Amino acid sequence: MQIIVHRGTHQIGGVATEIRTSSARILIDMGDELSNEADFIPRPLSISGVTDDREACDAVLFTHYHGDHIGQLTNIRPNIPIYMGVLTKEVLLATCRRKTDLLMKERIQKAYTFEPGQRFKVGDIAITPFWVDHSACDSYMFLLEAEGKRVLHTGDFRLHGFRGKALPKLLRWKIGKVDVLIIEGTQLSRSGTVSFTERQLQQQVKKYMQQYKYVFVLCAATQLERICALAKAVPAGKYFVCDGYQNKLLDLLQRHWGNYSALYRNLKKITYGKNLHERFAEKGFLMMVRDNRQFRSIIRRFDPHQSVILYSMWDGYRTRPNSSLPDFLNLAEHWAPLHTSGHSSQADLQQVIQKLSPRRVIPIHTEYPEGLSRICPTEKIVLLQDGQVWSF
Ligand SMILES: [Zn+2]
Ligand SMILES: [Zn+2]
Repeated sequence: MQIIVHRGTHQIGGVATEIRTSSARILIDMGDELSNEADFIPRPLSISGVTDDREACDAVLFTHYHGDHIGQLTNIRPNIPIYMGVLTKEVLLATCRRKTDLLMKERIQKAYTFEPGQRFKVGDIAITPFWVDHSACDSYMFLLEAEGKRVLHTGDFRLHGFRGKALPKLLRWKIGKVDVLIIEGTQLSRSGTVSFTERQLQQQVKKYMQQYKYVFVLCAATQLERICALAKAVPAGKYFVCDGYQNKLLDLLQRHWGNYSALYRNLKKITYGKNLHERFAEKGFLMMVRDNRQFRSIIRRFDPHQSVILYSMWDGYRTRPNSSLPDFLNLAEHWAPLHTSGHSSQADLQQVIQKLSPRRVIPIHTEYPEGLSRICPTEKIVLLQDGQVWSF
Protein backbone atom coordinates (compact mmCIF):
# COMPACT_ATOMS: atom_id res chain seq x y z
CA MET A 1 0.00 0.00 0.00
CA GLN A 2 1.14 3.53 -0.67
CA ILE A 3 0.15 6.90 0.73
CA ILE A 4 0.83 10.20 -1.02
CA VAL A 5 -0.20 13.46 0.61
CA HIS A 6 -0.38 15.68 -2.46
CA ARG A 7 -0.98 18.76 -0.35
CA GLY A 8 -1.38 19.40 3.37
CA THR A 9 1.81 18.04 4.97
CA HIS A 10 2.82 21.57 5.93
CA GLN A 11 -0.32 23.68 5.55
CA ILE A 12 -3.83 23.78 6.96
CA GLY A 13 -6.04 24.17 3.87
CA GLY A 14 -6.12 22.68 0.39
CA VAL A 15 -5.63 19.05 1.38
CA ALA A 16 -5.54 16.02 -0.92
CA THR A 17 -4.41 12.53 0.19
CA GLU A 18 -3.96 9.50 -2.05
CA ILE A 19 -4.14 5.85 -0.96
CA ARG A 20 -3.19 3.21 -3.50
CA THR A 21 -2.88 -0.56 -3.67
CA SER A 22 -1.39 -2.58 -6.53
CA SER A 23 -4.75 -2.42 -8.33
CA ALA A 24 -6.75 0.56 -7.01
CA ARG A 25 -6.22 4.22 -6.37
CA ILE A 26 -8.42 6.65 -4.40
CA LEU A 27 -8.10 10.24 -3.23
CA ILE A 28 -9.51 11.73 -0.06
CA ASP A 29 -10.45 15.42 -0.42
CA MET A 30 -9.39 17.94 -3.09
CA GLY A 31 -9.47 21.33 -1.39
CA ASP A 32 -8.66 24.97 -1.96
CA GLU A 33 -5.85 26.58 0.01
CA LEU A 34 -6.81 29.00 2.77
CA SER A 35 -5.35 32.48 2.92
CA ASN A 36 -5.43 35.59 5.06
CA GLU A 37 -5.61 37.76 1.96
CA ALA A 38 -9.12 38.79 0.94
CA ASP A 39 -8.44 38.62 -2.84
CA PHE A 40 -6.43 35.37 -2.74
CA ILE A 41 -6.69 33.06 -5.77
CA PRO A 42 -6.07 29.43 -4.70
CA ARG A 43 -3.43 27.43 -6.61
CA PRO A 44 -5.06 24.62 -8.60
CA LEU A 45 -3.98 21.08 -7.74
CA SER A 46 -2.34 19.06 -10.50
CA ILE A 47 -2.41 15.30 -9.83
CA SER A 48 -1.62 12.77 -12.54
CA GLY A 49 -4.71 10.78 -13.54
CA VAL A 50 -6.98 12.93 -11.37
CA THR A 51 -6.73 16.34 -13.00
CA ASP A 52 -5.56 14.82 -16.32
CA ASP A 53 -5.95 11.44 -18.06
CA ARG A 54 -2.37 10.19 -17.83
CA GLU A 55 -3.31 7.30 -15.51
CA ALA A 56 -6.35 5.81 -13.77
CA CYS A 57 -8.02 6.97 -10.58
CA ASP A 58 -10.93 4.95 -9.15
CA ALA A 59 -12.64 7.49 -6.88
CA VAL A 60 -12.37 10.72 -4.92
CA LEU A 61 -13.99 10.72 -1.45
CA PHE A 62 -14.87 13.88 0.45
CA THR A 63 -14.72 14.07 4.24
CA HIS A 64 -16.96 17.20 4.49
CA TYR A 65 -18.16 20.32 2.68
CA HIS A 66 -15.59 22.94 3.75
CA GLY A 67 -13.85 24.66 0.81
CA ASP A 68 -10.37 23.65 1.99
CA HIS A 69 -11.45 20.02 1.37
CA ILE A 70 -13.85 20.32 -1.57
CA GLY A 71 -12.81 23.50 -3.43
CA GLN A 72 -10.90 21.67 -6.20
CA LEU A 73 -13.80 19.34 -7.01
CA THR A 74 -14.44 20.78 -10.49
CA ASN A 75 -10.76 20.18 -11.30
CA ILE A 76 -11.30 16.38 -11.05
CA ARG A 77 -11.63 14.57 -14.39
CA PRO A 78 -15.43 14.21 -15.00
CA ASN A 79 -15.43 10.41 -15.42
CA ILE A 80 -13.91 9.77 -11.96
CA PRO A 81 -16.68 8.85 -9.47
CA ILE A 82 -16.91 11.13 -6.44
CA TYR A 83 -18.41 10.16 -3.07
CA MET A 84 -19.78 12.22 -0.17
CA GLY A 85 -22.27 12.07 2.72
CA VAL A 86 -25.98 12.45 1.95
CA LEU A 87 -26.44 15.70 3.87
CA THR A 88 -23.10 17.03 2.57
CA LYS A 89 -24.46 16.66 -0.96
CA GLU A 90 -27.71 18.45 -0.08
CA VAL A 91 -25.94 21.32 1.70
CA LEU A 92 -23.49 21.78 -1.18
CA LEU A 93 -26.30 21.87 -3.75
CA ALA A 94 -28.09 24.50 -1.63
CA THR A 95 -24.93 26.63 -1.39
CA CYS A 96 -24.33 26.65 -5.18
CA ARG A 97 -26.35 29.83 -5.73
CA ARG A 98 -24.29 31.88 -8.20
CA LYS A 99 -24.01 31.44 -11.96
CA THR A 100 -20.32 30.66 -11.48
CA ASP A 101 -21.30 27.65 -9.31
CA LEU A 102 -23.01 25.88 -12.22
CA LEU A 103 -20.15 23.48 -13.00
CA MET A 104 -19.76 22.64 -9.29
CA LYS A 105 -23.50 21.99 -9.07
CA GLU A 106 -23.48 19.64 -12.06
CA ARG A 107 -20.63 17.60 -10.58
CA ILE A 108 -22.24 17.40 -7.14
CA GLN A 109 -25.56 16.26 -8.63
CA LYS A 110 -23.75 13.22 -10.02
CA ALA A 111 -21.91 12.40 -6.76
CA TYR A 112 -22.48 9.02 -5.10
CA THR A 113 -23.43 9.08 -1.44
CA PHE A 114 -22.46 6.84 1.46
CA GLU A 115 -23.98 6.19 4.89
CA PRO A 116 -22.13 6.24 8.22
CA GLY A 117 -20.94 2.78 9.26
CA GLN A 118 -21.85 1.24 5.86
CA ARG A 119 -18.81 -0.38 4.25
CA PHE A 120 -18.40 -0.09 0.48
CA LYS A 121 -15.64 -1.08 -1.93
CA VAL A 122 -13.65 0.77 -4.56
CA GLY A 123 -11.52 -1.83 -6.36
CA ASP A 124 -9.84 -3.86 -3.61
CA ILE A 125 -10.11 -1.05 -1.03
CA ALA A 126 -12.91 -1.48 1.53
CA ILE A 127 -14.04 1.90 2.88
CA THR A 128 -16.08 2.49 6.02
CA PRO A 129 -17.10 6.10 6.71
CA PHE A 130 -17.75 7.10 10.35
CA TRP A 131 -19.39 10.28 11.58
CA VAL A 132 -17.17 12.75 13.42
CA ASP A 133 -17.95 16.05 15.08
CA HIS A 134 -16.58 19.14 13.29
CA SER A 135 -17.69 22.69 12.47
CA ALA A 136 -19.24 21.27 9.28
CA CYS A 137 -22.03 18.83 10.06
CA ASP A 138 -21.97 15.50 8.20
CA SER A 139 -18.17 15.17 8.51
CA TYR A 140 -16.50 11.76 8.23
CA MET A 141 -13.39 9.81 9.02
CA PHE A 142 -12.63 6.89 6.71
CA LEU A 143 -11.38 3.43 7.67
CA LEU A 144 -9.61 1.94 4.64
CA GLU A 145 -8.84 -1.79 4.52
CA ALA A 146 -6.84 -3.49 1.77
CA GLU A 147 -3.93 -5.91 1.29
CA GLY A 148 -4.31 -7.00 4.95
CA LYS A 149 -3.71 -3.46 6.26
CA ARG A 150 -5.92 -0.88 7.99
CA VAL A 151 -5.59 2.88 7.56
CA LEU A 152 -7.69 5.51 9.35
CA HIS A 153 -7.97 8.98 7.81
CA THR A 154 -9.56 11.30 10.40
CA GLY A 155 -10.55 14.29 8.24
CA ASP A 156 -11.21 17.41 10.34
CA PHE A 157 -12.60 16.52 13.77
CA ARG A 158 -12.96 17.56 17.39
CA LEU A 159 -14.20 16.19 20.69
CA HIS A 160 -15.68 19.39 22.15
CA GLY A 161 -18.74 19.68 19.86
CA PHE A 162 -22.21 18.30 20.60
CA ARG A 163 -21.36 14.84 19.18
CA GLY A 164 -17.69 14.77 20.17
CA LYS A 165 -18.10 12.40 23.11
CA ALA A 166 -19.13 9.61 20.73
CA LEU A 167 -15.68 9.43 19.15
CA PRO A 168 -13.66 7.64 21.88
CA LYS A 169 -16.37 4.93 22.03
CA LEU A 170 -16.39 4.65 18.24
CA LEU A 171 -12.61 4.24 18.15
CA ARG A 172 -12.73 1.56 20.81
CA TRP A 173 -15.71 -0.49 19.68
CA LYS A 174 -15.95 0.01 15.91
CA ILE A 175 -12.45 0.80 14.68
CA GLY A 176 -9.88 -0.80 16.99
CA LYS A 177 -6.23 -1.11 16.03
CA VAL A 178 -4.95 0.46 12.81
CA ASP A 179 -1.63 0.22 11.01
CA VAL A 180 -1.52 3.83 9.88
CA LEU A 181 -3.35 6.85 11.25
CA ILE A 182 -3.55 9.93 9.03
CA ILE A 183 -4.61 12.65 11.45
CA GLU A 184 -5.44 16.35 11.14
CA GLY A 185 -3.19 18.60 13.24
CA THR A 186 -4.62 22.10 12.85
CA GLN A 187 -4.13 22.91 16.54
CA LEU A 188 -0.43 21.91 16.50
CA SER A 189 0.47 25.37 15.22
CA ARG A 190 -2.31 27.24 17.04
CA SER A 191 -2.90 27.67 20.76
CA GLY A 192 -3.50 23.92 21.08
CA THR A 193 -6.15 24.41 23.72
CA VAL A 194 -9.85 24.92 23.29
CA SER A 195 -11.48 27.64 25.38
CA PHE A 196 -15.11 26.55 25.12
CA THR A 197 -17.30 23.63 24.17
CA GLU A 198 -20.25 24.21 21.83
CA ARG A 199 -22.56 23.68 24.81
CA GLN A 200 -20.80 26.48 26.72
CA LEU A 201 -21.37 28.82 23.76
CA GLN A 202 -25.06 28.01 24.00
CA GLN A 203 -25.01 29.03 27.70
CA GLN A 204 -23.15 32.25 26.89
CA VAL A 205 -25.74 33.29 24.33
CA LYS A 206 -28.51 32.90 26.91
CA LYS A 207 -26.75 35.57 29.01
CA TYR A 208 -26.45 37.92 26.02
CA MET A 209 -30.17 37.45 25.37
CA GLN A 210 -30.89 38.68 28.92
CA GLN A 211 -28.56 41.65 28.55
CA TYR A 212 -29.51 42.86 25.04
CA LYS A 213 -32.85 43.15 23.29
CA TYR A 214 -31.39 42.66 19.82
CA VAL A 215 -28.75 39.96 19.44
CA PHE A 216 -27.20 39.56 15.97
CA VAL A 217 -24.93 36.55 15.37
CA LEU A 218 -22.38 36.66 12.55
CA CYS A 219 -21.73 33.01 11.69
CA ALA A 220 -21.10 30.84 8.61
CA ALA A 221 -24.55 29.77 7.38
CA THR A 222 -23.33 26.17 7.13
CA GLN A 223 -22.27 25.90 10.81
CA LEU A 224 -25.65 24.25 11.30
CA GLU A 225 -25.30 22.49 14.65
CA ARG A 226 -24.16 25.68 16.40
CA ILE A 227 -27.03 27.61 14.78
CA CYS A 228 -29.55 25.02 16.04
CA ALA A 229 -28.11 25.39 19.55
CA LEU A 230 -28.41 29.19 19.36
CA ALA A 231 -32.02 28.91 18.14
CA LYS A 232 -32.82 26.64 21.10
CA ALA A 233 -31.28 29.21 23.48
CA VAL A 234 -33.82 31.91 22.55
CA PRO A 235 -36.25 32.42 25.48
CA ALA A 236 -40.04 32.27 25.07
CA GLY A 237 -41.45 35.60 23.90
CA LYS A 238 -38.42 36.46 21.72
CA TYR A 239 -37.82 35.51 18.10
CA PHE A 240 -35.17 33.46 16.32
CA VAL A 241 -34.81 35.21 12.95
CA CYS A 242 -32.92 34.22 9.80
CA ASP A 243 -33.14 34.77 6.06
CA GLY A 244 -34.57 32.37 3.48
CA TYR A 245 -31.17 30.83 2.67
CA GLN A 246 -30.38 30.04 6.30
CA ASN A 247 -33.92 28.76 6.77
CA LYS A 248 -33.50 26.33 3.86
CA LEU A 249 -30.22 24.95 5.26
CA LEU A 250 -31.79 24.41 8.69
CA ASP A 251 -34.76 22.64 7.06
CA LEU A 252 -32.32 20.32 5.29
CA LEU A 253 -30.68 19.46 8.60
CA GLN A 254 -34.03 18.76 10.24
CA ARG A 255 -35.19 16.61 7.32
CA HIS A 256 -32.08 14.43 7.37
CA TRP A 257 -31.09 14.44 11.02
CA GLY A 258 -34.30 15.40 12.87
CA ASN A 259 -34.78 11.83 14.10
CA TYR A 260 -31.28 11.64 15.62
CA SER A 261 -31.57 14.44 18.17
CA ALA A 262 -34.04 17.05 19.46
CA LEU A 263 -31.30 19.62 18.78
CA TYR A 264 -32.05 19.48 15.04
CA ARG A 265 -35.85 19.51 15.06
CA ASN A 266 -38.73 21.85 15.87
CA LEU A 267 -36.73 25.07 15.60
CA LYS A 268 -39.05 28.03 16.12
CA LYS A 269 -37.58 30.13 13.31
CA ILE A 270 -39.02 33.05 11.44
CA THR A 271 -37.78 34.62 8.21
CA TYR A 272 -37.08 38.35 8.25
CA GLY A 273 -39.58 40.56 6.43
CA LYS A 274 -40.13 44.34 6.65
CA ASN A 275 -43.78 43.72 7.56
CA LEU A 276 -42.59 41.99 10.76
CA HIS A 277 -40.24 44.79 11.79
CA GLU A 278 -42.54 46.27 14.48
CA ARG A 279 -43.04 42.87 16.13
CA PHE A 280 -39.28 42.18 16.16
CA ALA A 281 -38.49 45.67 17.50
CA GLU A 282 -41.01 45.28 20.29
CA LYS A 283 -40.23 41.75 21.49
CA GLY A 284 -36.50 41.39 20.75
CA PHE A 285 -34.71 38.54 18.98
CA LEU A 286 -31.62 36.59 18.06
CA MET A 287 -30.93 37.06 14.35
CA MET A 288 -28.43 35.12 12.22
CA VAL A 289 -26.61 37.59 9.96
CA ARG A 290 -23.86 37.64 7.34
CA ASP A 291 -21.70 40.54 6.17
CA ASN A 292 -23.67 41.84 3.17
CA ARG A 293 -25.58 44.98 2.21
CA GLN A 294 -28.96 43.53 3.08
CA PHE A 295 -28.03 42.59 6.66
CA ARG A 296 -26.14 45.86 7.20
CA SER A 297 -29.33 47.72 6.37
CA ILE A 298 -31.43 45.49 8.67
CA ILE A 299 -29.06 45.97 11.63
CA ARG A 300 -29.20 49.76 11.18
CA ARG A 301 -32.99 49.67 11.65
CA PHE A 302 -32.65 48.69 15.34
CA ASP A 303 -31.46 50.80 18.29
CA PRO A 304 -27.66 50.26 18.40
CA HIS A 305 -27.58 50.87 22.19
CA GLN A 306 -29.78 47.84 22.74
CA SER A 307 -27.92 45.73 20.19
CA VAL A 308 -24.94 43.39 20.29
CA ILE A 309 -23.24 41.60 17.41
CA LEU A 310 -21.76 38.23 18.41
CA TYR A 311 -18.81 37.29 16.24
CA SER A 312 -19.08 33.54 15.74
CA MET A 313 -16.27 32.87 13.25
CA TRP A 314 -12.53 32.28 13.16
CA ASP A 315 -10.78 35.48 14.34
CA GLY A 316 -8.38 35.42 11.37
CA TYR A 317 -11.17 36.59 9.04
CA ARG A 318 -11.65 39.70 11.20
CA THR A 319 -8.00 40.60 11.70
CA ARG A 320 -6.72 40.06 8.14
CA PRO A 321 -5.73 43.18 6.15
CA ASN A 322 -8.61 45.02 4.41
CA SER A 323 -11.24 42.93 6.21
CA SER A 324 -14.70 44.51 6.10
CA LEU A 325 -15.65 42.80 9.36
CA PRO A 326 -14.41 45.44 11.88
CA ASP A 327 -16.68 47.95 10.13
CA PHE A 328 -19.58 45.47 10.21
CA LEU A 329 -19.10 44.83 13.94
CA ASN A 330 -19.29 48.59 14.58
CA LEU A 331 -22.90 48.68 13.35
CA ALA A 332 -24.00 47.96 16.92
CA GLU A 333 -22.80 49.68 20.10
CA HIS A 334 -21.24 46.42 21.32
CA TRP A 335 -19.72 43.30 19.83
CA ALA A 336 -18.25 40.20 21.45
CA PRO A 337 -16.65 36.92 20.32
CA LEU A 338 -18.77 33.76 20.51
CA HIS A 339 -16.66 31.05 18.98
CA THR A 340 -14.77 27.84 19.52
CA SER A 341 -12.48 25.86 17.25
CA GLY A 342 -13.72 23.27 14.75
CA HIS A 343 -10.54 21.30 15.40
CA SER A 344 -9.32 18.92 18.05
CA SER A 345 -7.23 20.34 20.92
CA GLN A 346 -3.72 18.94 21.39
CA ALA A 347 -4.89 16.96 24.43
CA ASP A 348 -7.67 15.38 22.36
CA LEU A 349 -5.23 14.54 19.54
CA GLN A 350 -3.12 12.72 22.14
CA GLN A 351 -6.19 10.89 23.43
CA VAL A 352 -7.23 9.70 19.96
CA ILE A 353 -3.72 8.50 19.09
CA GLN A 354 -3.44 6.68 22.41
CA LYS A 355 -6.78 4.89 21.89
CA LEU A 356 -5.83 3.65 18.41
CA SER A 357 -2.19 2.78 19.18
CA PRO A 358 -1.30 2.88 15.46
CA ARG A 359 2.01 1.56 14.13
CA ARG A 360 2.62 4.85 12.31
CA VAL A 361 1.03 8.31 12.48
CA ILE A 362 1.03 10.82 9.61
CA PRO A 363 0.03 14.39 10.49
CA ILE A 364 -1.71 16.43 7.77
CA HIS A 365 -3.76 19.67 7.65
CA THR A 366 -1.16 21.37 9.84
CA GLU A 367 1.48 24.09 9.63
CA TYR A 368 3.59 22.39 12.30
CA PRO A 369 3.69 18.59 11.76
CA GLU A 370 6.79 18.31 13.99
CA GLY A 371 4.55 19.41 16.87
CA LEU A 372 2.98 15.95 16.90
CA SER A 373 6.30 14.34 17.88
CA ARG A 374 6.54 16.88 20.68
CA ILE A 375 3.14 16.02 22.19
CA CYS A 376 3.36 12.26 21.43
CA PRO A 377 7.10 11.50 21.94
CA THR A 378 6.69 7.72 22.12
CA GLU A 379 4.68 7.37 18.87
CA LYS A 380 6.25 6.62 15.49
CA ILE A 381 5.41 9.80 13.61
CA VAL A 382 6.05 9.90 9.85
CA LEU A 383 6.74 13.40 8.56
CA LEU A 384 6.10 13.55 4.82
CA GLN A 385 6.61 16.18 2.17
CA ASP A 386 3.85 17.07 -0.30
CA GLY A 387 3.90 14.58 -3.20
CA GLN A 388 6.26 12.10 -1.49
CA VAL A 389 5.36 8.42 -2.09
CA TRP A 390 5.34 6.48 1.22
CA SER A 391 5.05 2.69 1.07
CA PHE A 392 4.27 0.41 4.00
ZN1 LIG B 1 -13.27 21.60 7.96
ZN1 LIG C 1 -10.05 21.73 6.92
